[in-house]
Amino acid sequence: MTPDEGNLESGSIDLDKIFEKAKNAGSQIGKLTIRERLAPLIELKELVLERQEELIDIIQKETNKSRSDALFSEIFPIVDTLHWMEVEAENILKDKKVKTPIVLMGKTSYIYHQGLGVVLVISPWNYPLFQALVPIAHALICGNAVIYKPSEFTPLKGAVESLLNDAGVSSDLVQVIYGGGKLGSDLIEKRPDKIFFTGSVGTGKKIMQQAGKHLIPVELELGGKDPMIVFEDANIQRSVKGAAWGAMTNAGQSCTSVERLYVHEDIYENFKSELIVEVGKIKQLIDTNGNSDIGHMTNSQQAKKVRALVLDAVAKGAKALTNEYWIESPKSELEIPAIVLEGVTSEMEIWDCEIFGPILPIFKFSSEIDVINRANDSSFGLSASVWTADKTRATRVTKSLETGNVSVNNVMLTEGNPYLPFGGVKNSGIGRYKGAHGLLSFCNIKSVLFDGNSSKVEANWYPYTTEKYHLFDNLMQALFKGGIMGLIKFAFYGLKLEMLSGKLGKKGRA
Ligand code: NAD
Repeated sequence: MTPDEGNLESGSIDLDKIFEKAKNAGSQIGKLTIRERLAPLIELKELVLERQEELIDIIQKETNKSRSDALFSEIFPIVDTLHWMEVEAENILKDKKVKTPIVLMGKTSYIYHQGLGVVLVISPWNYPLFQALVPIAHALICGNAVIYKPSEFTPLKGAVESLLNDAGVSSDLVQVIYGGGKLGSDLIEKRPDKIFFTGSVGTGKKIMQQAGKHLIPVELELGGKDPMIVFEDANIQRSVKGAAWGAMTNAGQSCTSVERLYVHEDIYENFKSELIVEVGKIKQLIDTNGNSDIGHMTNSQQAKKVRALVLDAVAKGAKALTNEYWIESPKSELEIPAIVLEGVTSEMEIWDCEIFGPILPIFKFSSEIDVINRANDSSFGLSASVWTADKTRATRVTKSLETGNVSVNNVMLTEGNPYLPFGGVKNSGIGRYKGAHGLLSFCNIKSVLFDGNSSKVEANWYPYTTEKYHLFDNLMQALFKGGIMGLIKFAFYGLKLEMLSGKLGKKGRA
């Protein structure tokens, strides 16, 4: 795919008008109940299910992915997330009464979850429909308006608008603006109330810097270099199949692809032989019937990068264990076959750089501590997987890994559960989305305390006096240090303080 040439820059677009429309729409949606906001999202879910094949056609045309990749990793998770919202959002977002401590007796406390205003969503090209609808739905259900900028490589022109329009979402509430990086930056300059960005580390840093000028909250979902760790007691057949899928799904163009496979030395040779067979069976075709494992690379820019990384590694001593022909004579620029790479070292560029292609470096390890150190020796920290029959070890290793997500005896599966939040540490990003934590990140979490409309004066209000100081000190000691007797003392000092405050409130300082 080549970048969409239309509206690459923002000169021809009236950004002020776009923001004005969004602000007005945002103030309207904020007044709706969560049930009312849910209605179009439920409709959207139905529409995605109904139009699934048509949507896969559009996705496939722009991404070159296999139909099954589009079904499993775009259509299904969109529907699954919208279904989760239907079931859970109301409970997560409703006003919540929280405890009010005894020292604030007579008052009541609440948390309100309200929209922030206008959320700017900027997305990459690898899962274009998912990365449009899922963040948009999060923002809408929390009561925000959305300005959505898709990747210039996969704009899916008109598809998102058509789905939202048919679901009953107004064109002011979600505006899709097409263009490249310059447009993204110009949109930030108009000061949205939140930026939800998914993309590369380099762009994420630029966005955070620009947002910092205006103190706009940013959420960054960035790249990964995910380790898969296979211990000697793991089920070899299952973990081999898991490695093949985890590394090659979406032709490796996934932020949570397995990019480093660590296999215990006791099973390494056996595992490697089975992996070569399994990866050798991967069928590569931009298919029409769901009968292909992976498609081609989405764009030439990324394909060139992947090829350069592999050629550099091979020149420095790495060896392709599968589809070796591609090193010398590729069939076409975008058709990169599934390659298992052995002998990768820290001298090679591929070592700590996100590959984002169907390439799987494989390594041998000797001990738990060795593999934990090597897995953590990365500037990224998105997700990881641990494969073992020993649950205690799995828990221990999981807790030692510096990542935002870990699957045990499975791969890339935390993303498959909409109840789990998603996000990274280190260079993999800032913040979480999905799950209850993710939903709340699109809200102004407002703390509210109600008191009665009485003539009472608070003990900590002016005037301050020495007597009040000592009474308050006694009350504090009684409350936090006194045990059961303390509570009685607390009641005594509390009453005295109240009486004194009442008196002082009427008369002022003596
Ligand atoms: P990218 O950073 O090149 O572009 C992402 C988006 O940012 C595009 O829409 C682009 O137009 C826009 N953009 C570029 N420069 C900008 C600027 N200065 N200001 C505002 N917007 C700007 O990323 P990409 O190549 O499209 O996507 C691949 C990357 O995305 C990979 O690193 C991958 O790991 C990451 N990714 C992360 C996740 C995640 O959830 N963590 C998911 C998918 C992809």
